[in-house]
Amino acid sequence: MNQEEFKRFGYLFVDWVVDYLSRVGDYPVCSPLQPGEIKNKIPHSPPEEGESITEIFHDFEKIILPGMTHWQHPGWFAYFPANNSPPSILAELLTAGLGAQCMIWKTSPAATELEEVVCGWLRQMLGLPSGLAGVIQDTASTSTLVALLTAREKATDYQANLKGIKLPLCVYASQEAHSSVEKGVKIAGYGREALRYIPADENYALIPEALEEAINQDKAEGYQPACVVATLGTTSSGAVDPLAPIGRICQKHGLWLHVDAAYAGTAAILPEKRWILEGMEHVDSFVFNPHKWMLTNFDCSVYFIKDKEALIRTFEIHPEYLKTGVDAVVNNYRDWGIQLGRRFRALKLWFVLRYYGVSGLQAIIRKHIRLAQMFKEWLEDDERFEILAPVHFSLVCFRLNDGRSEAELNELNRSFHQKINKSGRIFLTHTSLRGKYTIRLVVGSRTTEEEHVREAWAIIRQAADEVTK
Ligand SMILES: *Cc1c(COP(=O)(O)O)cnc(C)c1O
Repeated sequence: MNQEEFKRFGYLFVDWVVDYLSRVGDYPVCSPLQPGEIKNKIPHSPPEEGESITEIFHDFEKIILPGMTHWQHPGWFAYFPANNSPPSILAELLTAGLGAQCMIWKTSPAATELEEVVCGWLRQMLGLPSGLAGVIQDTASTSTLVALLTAREKATDYQANLKGIKLPLCVYASQEAHSSVEKGVKIAGYGREALRYIPADENYALIPEALEEAINQDKAEGYQPACVVATLGTTSSGAVDPLAPIGRICQKHGLWLHVDAAYAGTAAILPEKRWILEGMEHVDSFVFNPHKWMLTNFDCSVYFIKDKEALIRTFEIHPEYLKTGVDAVVNNYRDWGIQLGRRFRALKLWFVLRYYGVSGLQAIIRKHIRLAQMFKEWLEDDERFEILAPVHFSLVCFRLNDGRSEAELNELNRSFHQKINKSGRIFLTHTSLRGKYTIRLVVGSRTTEEEHVREAWAIIRQAADEVTK
């Protein structure tokens, strides 16, 4: 591609992205296509001869776009958000242009040093203890796996990497923990049966007494408790496990404490939400995702660790071809996680943090929390609805409840939920809380304003009228 053409399409694509984001609310949130519809429109073999960008772009608009689900839609109330933002997108463009592979300091000193700086900024913004070192991973799933591997090494005096696990090690998490904990336990070689699910209280938070009981029982039976994963902001209901008592138990029994704050960690930039971090001094590792609620393009998950030597001992490798003269005085992030090659993820984070500033980000998070609170109050004022979990952040769990049997209520709420999403204007997902079909509404998209939550409420009331009449 010659420079003129590159430039012309570069401008065109930026125009396209700006235009897309300004009218993303006009699309149906979810793609209406059926399985196979996209594949059937694309040739099964690669093109023999090169094609023009014009042709490829034409097919992007005609074939690919209709098959997209619009995560940046203001009617996005599903799962948790995965926000982008203009400064993040522009930085991603620069990252792509640089095309650097930032596995070690030498392969781009700026990437390594900027990663140290932005992790330090985030640590201060969240009010995390000053002794924590940070590293950017791709996802919270990877960060939690890294924690489980490091905990495994520490529990076996760094022998598991060499010789495999001898004593049966155990891992503990609340029954509300994210599935990535189970996945990590499987991959890290503890064995699926080593994962103990600890009961949660009526607010879906882990019960510390039940945790200690399980640890004592395992010890009595000859198991070696190794790690606890606590969650701040569970995926189903946004529950907050109490770190302080959990931390004291971990301290007492010598267990690694990892905290999964993938979504809700961002809320700790608000002084009024700092309470979630009470007990952080006992925590060994902590993950949260700027790619969820901090306006940074997927993927960007930040992992903090107290004992970085334990982390490095778990992952380091020293092949001759990667040795450099400065290894003793710099961070080589290839030794801080699973992969060797690394994207330059710090750049987009730096752009976002500088562009919005702490107060700009705080204002957005506060707005989302306020809108979720407003929605919760509407539900409270309408006796047809029941709120199923405390609203700590911007996730509201609710259902219709007119007093019929639980089985019938589940059926009713399933059709209610389907009707809500059928509008195409908003998208909500569901979960199960104590067997109850639960509809989740998360306010977290950068583009969501009060008018969109009002529209959601109108759609939800209309659907409620229809399924209960
Ligand atoms: C979203 C989420 C995850 C998974 O995050 P990935 O970055 O997609 O791996 C893990 N834990 C919790 C609590 C989450 O909300």
